[in-house]
Amino acid sequence: MPTPPAYCYWIRNDLRLHDNRTWEALCAHRAAHAPDAPVFAVLSGPSGWDEASPWGWPRFSEARMNFWKSSAAGFARAWTNAQLGELLECWGKAPYEWTGVLELPQGSCLFASRGHGFDESAAEAQTKHWAQKNGLEVHWVENHDVWDPSDWNFRLKDLPPTFTGFRKKLEKGTPLVLPAFTQPLAYAAAPALLPEHHPHTSFPFAGDEASALAHVRRFIWESDGLARYKETRNGLLGVPYSGKISPWLATGALSVRWVWAEVVRFERERGRTDGSEWFLLELLWRSYFLWAARADGPKLFGPQPAHFQPEKSSAFLKWSRGETPDSFVNAGMHELVATGYLSNRLRQNVASFFIHNLGLPWAVGASFMEHHLLDYETASNWGNWAYIAGVGRNPGNRQPFNTVRQADFYDPDGTYRRTWN
Ligand SMILES: Cc1cc2nc3c(=O)[nH]c(=O)nc-3n(C[C@H](O)[C@H](O)[C@H](O)COP(=O)(O)OP(=O)(O)OC[C@H]3O[C@@H](n4cnc5c(N)ncnc54)[C@H](O)[C@@H]3O)c2cc1C
Repeated sequence: MPTPPAYCYWIRNDLRLHDNRTWEALCAHRAAHAPDAPVFAVLSGPSGWDEASPWGWPRFSEARMNFWKSSAAGFARAWTNAQLGELLECWGKAPYEWTGVLELPQGSCLFASRGHGFDESAAEAQTKHWAQKNGLEVHWVENHDVWDPSDWNFRLKDLPPTFTGFRKKLEKGTPLVLPAFTQPLAYAAAPALLPEHHPHTSFPFAGDEASALAHVRRFIWESDGLARYKETRNGLLGVPYSGKISPWLATGALSVRWVWAEVVRFERERGRTDGSEWFLLELLWRSYFLWAARADGPKLFGPQPAHFQPEKSSAFLKWSRGETPDSFVNAGMHELVATGYLSNRLRQNVASFFIHNLGLPWAVGASFMEHHLLDYETASNWGNWAYIAGVGRNPGNRQPFNTVRQADFYDPDGTYRRTWN
């Protein structure tokens, strides 16, 4: 246990070394104030690690847990190789729950990335209180997005109610300034695969940062993935049809700011394409949902039907098992449950079917996806479900997806349905 004041990095969903603003802020502060102070890092991972949803299922499926563990193992290897300090683990626990793991003496500094979800904000409020009581200094850093609201010409509480309003405000505001990035050192030759990946999964990769970087290099520079993104993004099967970066963004093994900067560099060096423009637009959707989650707090989750009993709802059981009368929806549910990944197209279809065809409460479907999705992010998941339900931000009378027509259009020869049914 440290006795002189120390520096501590609380690692949540920021499992990377490259473009990690929280870690950089800690190093700069230490160099300026106490260059000899010991450094500790505590890897706690995401909130809700060992919790269950109100409807009984754990918030993490085994596959989602394994992906997080794989990201964390990559981070631990890189951290240890670079000899950055002592690394401790305390999964799912915030600093005020670290008793027996790390006792920080008075005057120590704790650095952490700010979260966007309500649970994360609640843990931050409690950490602030605990730190004050224990004479610790806490520094919060924005580390999950390209944007930092302190650079906007409007306040977070004035975040426009729609995505289009947000995009227009940003276009009129101060242009985005990206740092001059050095290329990351930790590239792998090719992304590693998760040993237990399903043979038909569209996302077979391990969670470590080196794999994420190698994948992005391949997507942007070595294949025509980015250039052709607009044409391929509605694909359903295989790795090449979209960016496939979301699981690494969720654990923080990949910096979205660096991905954005690489796309801008691609446009400068090889020319702008519909694909590169469209890809940045999708990253902006992620940004919008992130900041909306921060601004909206518990409202993001809508009304939670606590009395809904999934095990007694035959509609729910059929949907979750992929046993509805709709073979396109069933295929999507089989893929989701077997692999933890699903294309955006299928996510929209299965969610729309759940809400509009089966008349089930959207929060239950969102929670079921939280359990399964490797790339689960509170903001994007609940934000998209609310969007399809026509509530929350971007409100409107959403037309249900016609899943039969969608299947005809996006899976004309039935390959996707045959693969997963
Ligand atoms: C019901 C539903 C639930 C969803 N839940 C999640 C979730 O938990 N986590 C998550 O990351 N995405 C979620 N999405 C958004 C989207 O489906 C995934 O981001 C995308 O499929 C990930 O694959 P990709 O990296 O190949 O995306 P690409 O098509 O390559 O897009 C690049 C990136 O842009 C962002 N993006 C793209 N579309 C969206 C979108 N609609 N909303 C927000 N960001 C977007 C993601 O960060 C994505 O990685 C959900 C969508 C729906 C309809």
